[in-house]
Parts: sequence; structure tokens; C-alpha cells
Amino acid sequence: MSRKAAFVYHDAMSRHILRADHPLRAVRLKYTYELLDAYHAFEDENSALVEPRPATEKEITSVHDAEYVEAVRSFSRGERKYDPVRFSFGAGGDNPIYEGMYEAALLSTGASIVAAELMDGNRVNVAFNISGGLHHAAAANASGFCVFNDPAIAIRQLLDKGLRVVYVDIDAHHGDGVQNAFYDNDRVLTISLHESGMFLFPGTGFVEEIGAGPGTGFSVNVPLYPYTDDDTYLWAFRETVPPLIAAFKPDVLVTQLGIDSYHSDPLAHLQISSRGFGDAVRELAGMGLPWLATGGGGYDLGAVARCWTLAYGIMLERDWPDEIPAECREKYGWERLLDSEVPAVVPENVRQEARNFAEKSVESVKQLIFPTHRAG
Ligand SMILES: [Zn+2]
Repeated sequence: MSRKAAFVYHDAMSRHILRADHPLRAVRLKYTYELLDAYHAFEDENSALVEPRPATEKEITSVHDAEYVEAVRSFSRGERKYDPVRFSFGAGGDNPIYEGMYEAALLSTGASIVAAELMDGNRVNVAFNISGGLHHAAAANASGFCVFNDPAIAIRQLLDKGLRVVYVDIDAHHGDGVQNAFYDNDRVLTISLHESGMFLFPGTGFVEEIGAGPGTGFSVNVPLYPYTDDDTYLWAFRETVPPLIAAFKPDVLVTQLGIDSYHSDPLAHLQISSRGFGDAVRELAGMGLPWLATGGGGYDLGAVARCWTLAYGIMLERDWPDEIPAECREKYGWERLLDSEVPAVVPENVRQEARNFAEKSVESVKQLIFPTHRAG
């Protein structure tokens, strides 16, 4: 018996341009789709290609302030009713206003809602929205290239159905917006592994951020040192994520699979290979939970296409041949799905420093969080 997977995608999600020199390039979604198509991923009887729909205003305001939503709509139309700075928009910054911004944000959010709806009645085991995972967006402002927080909105839908949710975020950046949306909620366990906020945007995600009120012990942060490699990363993941999920016993797994942790990513400093990323995704698949997967960061565009193709193969329990199919190899120059090895640019003392840092984070999580859940 194999798993049923849905890939929520439409080419319209890959066309917008935030700004000519902006690192977040929607075309990476098209590259991923093309590579999966070259592997015949959508001809598999267990794989459904599902169309997204735009989120409704009601769905968006389940997480975002109505005035912020109205401001995004007006900016997108070129109106100037509001001061963009008040909502963290600005031409030269992280969050530029661009034509079609509102529609693009509604569609990527709606794709995560469609994925959440696919969790109903076990129609699929897993649904993957590569355009989602915009985990920094806050209730009343844009942040870190994110306009609407689709993971938080999708989780809100799942909570409304009475489900308990674990959210695992493996983007290189802290999943601050999702953590904040459920900071006092004991029906959502958020777990974020990321490069420490001491070194990287958004400057949060410290182990001491454990939740508040009834949600105390339900926000988990595993900060990591720059240049953390596969071995240390996977060790920290395995020490924290599986035991906490086993103890929390959620109904649904929601993940943010940002691949800006990749060793050649231009925005972050972790040293994860496609092998390490695949192993982390395999751990998540092994939880055996209904699974809503989203994309996230990723600014080495070839790495994004290869790693999310690998991830969808794991979701479908298919091993794609390591050699990239000829049409994509010729068009994009990608050779293999898996890295043969990560360039050994990390000196031994830095490698050791990263290990010590991860050990401290894991130990603190065990002290601060595990007792709440009687996790072992
Ligand atoms: Zn990121």
C-alpha cells in the first residue's frame, strides 16, 4: 500500500516578480514543477495535481487584522490610502509593493487552505503547497518577504475542525509569525529549527521563547550556529522533534520546508546538503500523521527545485533516479538530486563550535519543554 499525495500548484503562482533584484523569485516554483514533471511525478496514480483557489477575505482575517488586509489590497492596486511603512512595506526593502501582490498572496494562501481541506476524510496522506510557508507575516504587517501567513491561516482552519496540530519549521529562519499566532495556545505545538537569531533575521527563536499562559511549553525553538552541517542538524532534529510529537499526539502535522538551510544559499549560513534535507523530510514522513507540507525560503533556485522534488518523492514513497532527467539537465544545468558531498569549507573548530551550540540548545529544550509533555 502506498501513500496518496497531492501537489497543489498552478503556473499562475510562479509568475509574479517582487522586484528585479529581490532574492525571493517565484519562478523557483515553476522550476520545481518542471523537474517533478520530468520525473513523471504527476502520472503516478497515487499523485494528484490539485488546483489552488484564492483565499477568501474571511479566511485571511482569521489571522490578520482587517485594516492590514485592506492596506495590502490598496497597495497592490497602486493606491496610496495608507502609509506603506506602517505595514512594513517599502520599495527597496524586504517587502516591496508589486503589481498583483494581493492576488498572488491570496492564491498562495488559498493553496495552503486547499491542502488543509485535503486532510479531511483522509483523501490524501500528504498535500504539498510549495508556494506556501510564508511564516514571517504578522497579524498587522508584512515581514521577511511574507505578506499573508498561510501556515497560520491553514492551522486556524484545522483548529476550527477540532484538530490538534504540530507545526515543524525547518527553514533556516525562525518561524516567528506562526509561533506568535499560537503563542498562548496549547492545541498547537510549534517547533522551529533555525540558524540562531543572534546571527540571522528575524533575530528571535531563542530556546527561552516557550509560549505563554495555557500555551507555556508549546513553543519550541532549537537555534543553531552558522555552518551547522547535516550530522549535527539531524542529531538535533532527532533529539527533539520525534519525542515531542510522540508525546503531544497531534491529529495533523503541518510543516514548513524552507531550503534556505542549503549550503550554497545566499541568505543564510547553515551547511545542509540535499541528503540532509531529505533525511529530515523522511523523519517527518515517518511520523505517520496526516501531513500538510508547505515550501518556504530558498534562494539558490536550483537547490530549491532539486530539494522540493526530492521531498515530494519522499511524500509519495518514490525514489527518483539521482541523475536529473535530460530535459532539465540541458535546460538548467542541474546534474543530480543528491549532493555527492558538501564542499568542505568549514574548519574543524567551527564544526565543533556548531556541535557544542546545538548540544546546548537541545539540552535547554529538554529542560524547559520536555517535562510539560512528559516527553522522553
Ligand atoms: Zn528562511
